[in-house]
Amino acid sequence: MRQYGLFVDNEMVEPATGEYLDVVNPARGHVWARVANARADDVGRAVESARRAFESGPWPACRAADRAKLLIRLGQLVEDHAEELAGLQVDENGKLMREMLGQTRLLPEYFNYYAGLAQMPTGTTNPLHVKDMVNYTVREPLGVVAAITPWNSPLLLLAWKLGPALAAGNTVVAKPSEVTPVSVLRLAELAAEAGLPPGVFNVVTGLGSPTGTALTGHPGVDKIAFTGSTATGRAIAAEAGKSLKRVSLELGGKSPNIVFADADLDSAVNGLVAGIFGASGQTCMAGSRILVQESHYDEVVTRLAERAEAIKVGDPRDAASEMGTVACQAQFDKVRHYVEVATADGARLVAGGKPAVVDGFPDGLFMRPTVFADVRNDMRIAREEVFGPIAAVIPFRDEEEAVRTANDTDFGLAAGIWTGEVQRAHRVAGRLRAGTVWINNYRKTSYATPFGGYKQSGLGRENGPDALHEYTEEKSVWVDT
Ligand code: NAD
Repeated sequence: MRQYGLFVDNEMVEPATGEYLDVVNPARGHVWARVANARADDVGRAVESARRAFESGPWPACRAADRAKLLIRLGQLVEDHAEELAGLQVDENGKLMREMLGQTRLLPEYFNYYAGLAQMPTGTTNPLHVKDMVNYTVREPLGVVAAITPWNSPLLLLAWKLGPALAAGNTVVAKPSEVTPVSVLRLAELAAEAGLPPGVFNVVTGLGSPTGTALTGHPGVDKIAFTGSTATGRAIAAEAGKSLKRVSLELGGKSPNIVFADADLDSAVNGLVAGIFGASGQTCMAGSRILVQESHYDEVVTRLAERAEAIKVGDPRDAASEMGTVACQAQFDKVRHYVEVATADGARLVAGGKPAVVDGFPDGLFMRPTVFADVRNDMRIAREEVFGPIAAVIPFRDEEEAVRTANDTDFGLAAGIWTGEVQRAHRVAGRLRAGTVWINNYRKTSYATPFGGYKQSGLGRENGPDALHEYTEEKSVWVDT
């Protein structure tokens, strides 16, 4: 079994503490790798490497075009190693091979996009009320970025940060989830192979505490770019506030997927199923609250239940499987707990609700896709993020009630609208308090458009042209002419 150290200065190094964590394959139940549980000294070593690379290395000072070349080369190496990188992620989080392969193949697109954008002039020259003066602005990199990521999409969510951060000239210390560290270490090796100078991209592995907390509390970090749960996001924002580190947060959701009576029901049901059962429901944008207009409620519940029962849960590496495992034991226990909570609160179980039995995988963390009907929006299953394959179906009377229920949540990450009426689609989209709204589709994202949350789903935006602003300071320069 391979044991991994930390990735610092383009080398794999042993942790000072010699403390290691198990990496478990959630489909097979066995430990297949061990990674360092970095403490403050190890984290300090990685941050110092990133600081050196920022302050005296070639990275921030070189031409954007030269950084772009290396990012594009890294994208090419990711493409060449896509099967390997996807396989590592499957062994870490139990998602389907085709999902992980699809995500991995997106990385070059993100790197290419920010490689291009970084070369566009972004400063302004400003007309002034003061005579004989010229004023212009320039955007400069922030410094050392701590990129802290969850386990559900280990490489893609890191690429959302790496692309703009590196393109803008920052250096990075990544802290992947303790559930999915190996794929990120492998990406760092490829970055070194692509020619990124030492210290530009470092990786420290370990638990939220001590590793994550040591990183966010380190005075050498200028910005924390975080994706994860809302609870951790709050702790990180509080820590960042102590020294006013820059911070961007991509957090949890309880997204409404709303079906109006005038929708094309076949497409809507497809979208509802993909929205909640894709990736075993382990996406921040999962359409976990399904709101259906009363006249079509019974039909949609029946169709959803049939579709959920028909989903083939199985070996994530088998192309015939439609859903893999839940990522880890804690998450498996959490999902099962919410089945009990929803039942006790009076929701009606119409599909699933139990682990799935998969031949040849006696220790796998497989869960049946689960549907609860007759959910009220004040029940815990409608208010708290499960991050698993559980749909909560809620009836509504009219558009007014749909909007009110959809917005009655602490979260605001995303929402779906299924309707055949174009005016209603835009009207409702305008009233939903969510960072992304999908009309007659669900769960689409792209490097070209911003993604992020309203309310407790986050702070700031990733992707799109303005993501570079999240990794730069704007300087205003006055010249006496
Ligand atoms: P998590 O918050 O438990 O952990 C995320 C990362 O933070 C991990 O690397 C973890 O080790 C680290 N961490 C934990 N405590 C920390 C602390 N006090 N200081 C610093 N780092 C700490 O989340 P998770 O269980 O890994 O992921 C699931 C969550 O992520 C869900 O809530 C999901 O909605 C969210 N998520 C959001 C998005 C988005 O773009 N909005 C995308 C994917 C996942």
